[in-house]
Amino acid sequence: MTTATAHGPAIGMLGIRFESIGGLGAHAAGQILASAAVLRLGLNGAHFSSYGSEKKGSAVKSYVRLTDHDTPIRSSAPIDAPDCIVVFHTALLSNPVTVAGLKAGGTLIYTAPAGERPEALKRVARTCRVIRVDAQTIANEEKSRPNAVLLGALCGALDALDARAVLAELTATFEKKHASAVPHNTRAFERGMAEGELIQGLACGEGDLPTMRPGPVWGYATAPIGGVIPLPGNTITNNLTTSRTGYMPVFGAEKCVHCGLCDIVCPDYCIVWGVVGDGPVPEVTRMRGIDYNYCKGCQRCVETCPTGALTREEERPGMAARLRVPIFDRIGGGLNTK
Ligand code: SF4
Ligand code: SF4
Repeated sequence: MTTATAHGPAIGMLGIRFESIGGLGAHAAGQILASAAVLRLGLNGAHFSSYGSEKKGSAVKSYVRLTDHDTPIRSSAPIDAPDCIVVFHTALLSNPVTVAGLKAGGTLIYTAPAGERPEALKRVARTCRVIRVDAQTIANEEKSRPNAVLLGALCGALDALDARAVLAELTATFEKKHASAVPHNTRAFERGMAEGELIQGLACGEGDLPTMRPGPVWGYATAPIGGVIPLPGNTITNNLTTSRTGYMPVFGAEKCVHCGLCDIVCPDYCIVWGVVGDGPVPEVTRMRGIDYNYCKGCQRCVETCPTGALTREEERPGMAARLRVPIFDRIGGGLNTK
């Protein structure tokens, strides 16, 4: 039997999974949520994140389990079948693992501009609540981070979460380190609560989504003898679109002096050059633009460009495909999904 908490009705066992990429603050959001639940709401809570190399752009999953104070949490395994999934970047929805295991009566929150309805959400059960919020734009406008907006949207969506407690924990976290960020985060959080849009008629699946956990391609029983790699990969097909955290460099040719500094600092070789023969000096090499398939949005090129020819701009749907200059002509524009 469950009992009411000091701050609201009993919650039973609530599993929340944040699907994100490094740099958007999913790990910090999970910490804040679990701390608020334990320290301010009298619940039991557990939180951990899993990620690869600790850098901007790598995949991050953050898990929060909450139970009533009289229900112990015995598991510290990943949450394969969550009640709620929060997706920090729209492009992650193209991978079925992102929404795997969502319960039929669950809640899915995704970030996207108004009107964007990812096809991938059709797989979600029609009985789920699907909520859209434009976390990146709100974060930019309020000079905050997407995680503050999405925490607000989460509190707006789940009655079990007391928004005042979560906001108080968010404030306490930043007061210690970046006090000037507190009013920005508060506005971002409140807008996340208020601006979540319930999307109806998009999800049309049935029942719980099957769970999925990516496994290693080769194990001890299947790896070829001698560490031979029979199918060597090639980064030509890598698409780093999902690595970008809402901003991309945009090239303005009129200010470029073709000095090559951007190319020197770019870690992913996505600056595209070409030989042109009709300028004042014939047959010269010119900077032509950026292949966004390989650009992770680190902004090193923007910070390095001495003339302002590269600027950091908020990425909107379709922008990368429109501005992209393919570095490999043979595979043209076929790889970009954004
Ligand atoms: S650093 Fe700036 S000016 Fe130099 S090549 Fe790159 S875009 Fe052009
Ligand atoms: S933001 Fe600039 S430096 Fe960074 S990956 Fe993209 S093109 Fe290269």
